[in-house]
Amino acid sequence: MKEHVGFCTRCQQDIYCVGGFLQGIILENGKMLCLACAEIGSDEQTPSSTQQ
Ligand SMILES: [Zn+2]
Repeated sequence: MKEHVGFCTRCQQDIYCVGGFLQGIILENGKMLCLACAEIGSDEQTPSSTQQ
């Protein structure tokens, strides 16, 4: 099961939901990042999941 959910706001890569697991993150402003860009981090938004 693979569902296309959108595009990475940074690298424009396709983001899919595979088996119910989103291959990326959704930011508070509704934008999406792929896992690779989420690891790097956004220069304008910090994913809340990485808070310490
Ligand atoms: Zn990306």
